[in-house]
Amino acid sequence: MPPQRWHPHLWHPTTQVASADPPLRAVRGRGALLELDDGRQLIDAISSWWVTLHGHAEPSIAAAVAAQATELEQVIFANFSHPPAEQLADALSARSGLERLFFSDNGSTAVEVALKIAWQWWRNRGEPRRQLIAFEGAYHGDTMGAMALGARSPFTAPFDELLFEVARAPWPATWWGDEGVEPRERLALERLEQLLETPTAAVILEPLVQGAAGMAMVREGFLREVERRVRAAGALLIADEVLTGFGRTGALFACQRAGLTPDLIALSKGLTGGFLPMGVTLAREALHAGFIGASERTFLHGHSFTANPLGCAAALASLTLLEANPGRYERFEARHRPHLEVLAQHPKLRFPRLIGTIAAIDLVLEKPGYFNPAGRIVQRRALAEGVFLRPLGQVIYLLPPLCLDDTQLEQCYGAISRALEAL
Ligand code: PMP
Repeated sequence: MPPQRWHPHLWHPTTQVASADPPLRAVRGRGALLELDDGRQLIDAISSWWVTLHGHAEPSIAAAVAAQATELEQVIFANFSHPPAEQLADALSARSGLERLFFSDNGSTAVEVALKIAWQWWRNRGEPRRQLIAFEGAYHGDTMGAMALGARSPFTAPFDELLFEVARAPWPATWWGDEGVEPRERLALERLEQLLETPTAAVILEPLVQGAAGMAMVREGFLREVERRVRAAGALLIADEVLTGFGRTGALFACQRAGLTPDLIALSKGLTGGFLPMGVTLAREALHAGFIGASERTFLHGHSFTANPLGCAAALASLTLLEANPGRYERFEARHRPHLEVLAQHPKLRFPRLIGTIAAIDLVLEKPGYFNPAGRIVQRRALAEGVFLRPLGQVIYLLPPLCLDDTQLEQCYGAISRALEAL
């Protein structure tokens, strides 16, 4: 087995070289498995940062990308359009009910674009609104605007002076057997109402699940109450579905499951089935209409790789595959449930919660938090059993690709359960 090592010319994301284990070296991905250069196979239980939707190297997406690569690999999207972009816009607009699609490169930029559209739309109307509202614990990406919208955290700390102000409402996260959720929801809605007394450009939320906050799940009814208040205040509603989009919560979009009709939706991650970096921001036609007219009204935003044809081809193939078998995402919750019920009995665990393909539970720790080493201990133990996890502080979660079979799912839960013995 070659020793794990740090490459002399690479700089890894969110990684402290002084304390982290050197990276695993992947050479191949097939379905739910990642193969390492030493021949080991690991179950990718977190879909490689939540992007691998169906499975690694999914043949129909690989074929679509390969075919597109020999036709048109890239073209400047300011002066050109192309069939895969048009087909993807048609498809996503029909499924989301939002008529306009703006392309960018990842989840952070999809959020930045939503924010900039919302902000400039009010300006273009001649009634600028300066307040933005987000939720406590929110995470919307690592670029400056997306960071500003997100909660302040160790991730934002070095940059806090640079981040613009965002008003914040509580996020009444809940779990199985939580008896205190109603008063927390009421408090959150009251706070939101107070904030909305100030003219507000937009309210942004991660529908149903705040991912990076630690798979913090809220009830559907709470989100509908949020939307009601946002509408009453005339503010725009932005849904960050970068994580939740494409079946992750058991519906095609979390907004559909929750009964929300946002004005803007940010998508990425599963968009291309996890094959290529791409983000899209869907917007209501009325927002697009607000940018038509004199040159100052223009949305002067664009990325070099806007609407990259390979990404579009991957996204179209991924959507086709997803819709060919919706049962795969609709039924995942029922597959998780019995395993999570057993795990939830463990005395070292609490707050079990589940939605769609996402199951999460907290380690009982004296000092929970992102840097608590307990998560790393669980990660190492599970790895030794061939399961790749990446706990978020005290939160252990599974967010596997849809192709994960029952045996592999059992392996994941078994590995978590046995890893707890090391704590
Ligand atoms: N929004 C949400 C809800 C996310 O979970 C993430 C990524 N974890 C982002 C935005 C940012 O996406 P990206 O990492 O592709 O920039």
